[in-house]
Amino acid sequence: MLSPGLHHVTAIAGPAQRNLDFYTRLLGLRLVKKTVNFDDPGTYHFYFGDEAGSPGTILTFFPWPHAAPGRSGIGETFETQFRVPEAAIGYWTHRFVTHGVAHEAPGKRFGQTVLAFKDPDGMRLALVGTPGLVGDKAWPGGGVPDEFAIRGFHGVSLLLEKTDRTAAILTDVFGYAHAGDEDSVARYRSNASGPGTIIDLRQAGGFLPARLGAGSVHHIAFRAKDDEAQAAMAAKLARDHGMRVTEQKDRNYFRSVYFREPGGVLFEIATDVPGFSVDEPIASLGHQLKLPKSLESLRGEIEARLPALAIP
Ligand code: ZN
Repeated sequence: MLSPGLHHVTAIAGPAQRNLDFYTRLLGLRLVKKTVNFDDPGTYHFYFGDEAGSPGTILTFFPWPHAAPGRSGIGETFETQFRVPEAAIGYWTHRFVTHGVAHEAPGKRFGQTVLAFKDPDGMRLALVGTPGLVGDKAWPGGGVPDEFAIRGFHGVSLLLEKTDRTAAILTDVFGYAHAGDEDSVARYRSNASGPGTIIDLRQAGGFLPARLGAGSVHHIAFRAKDDEAQAAMAAKLARDHGMRVTEQKDRNYFRSVYFREPGGVLFEIATDVPGFSVDEPIASLGHQLKLPKSLESLRGEIEARLPALAIP
């Protein structure tokens, strides 16, 4: 009954080209898949990650050119955090100054140096200096020197009115453990090694509810090794927490169920299988527009509707 951590984070962006440029050219992530929103095929769905699109490294976006800005508030993923080597914070601070990226002064959280910043849509992000990462593989094609490059997610923070029922699901269903408190933040950690093992629950009463829009996280996905592990988590959610998940959806690169956790954040449980190399080789991930079989017959129409992109 364990999840090794985050599988992906999915957010809403404004114009597609600006989103693509920021995450590939500025942050140095790889575009590992260019597809469409399966439920709204007139919209791109971008997946950014490491070389292979490994679980725990994948940040995905639905870019809507005319999306109104979201509003931060209760019941949402407040900040999405990436891991970088400890010595990389100075490099990134300089890079953000040079490129005019909105950022705060580096500070300490739970003993680690953290550089908080925002993407062009105002999405809250942070780089977390993490010891022992230099040997870990980073995407070498992103234009960021290897010793400074992003190594997948650190984790996310959730802004909640009350944290107890969310915490119970993290510990009981996903196998996280309480790992400390700082100010109004309670930290939970998966016992796996690798990226995306941290969930911070930030308790904040009296705020307005979040409003979804550009710069908002739509949902976060937890990893399940396979369908069986996913079904076991879903059964435990129903039995011990009164939470029903949706029917399983085939997302081509993983299979997913969804539920809204008691604090209001949309959670997904996504399988590690089959992965992003199911429809194109790792060497050329992200080069072509990929469509699920069900939409392939509409390819001409879909391509004509999507905005043209200059791929870096
Ligand atoms: Zn998802």
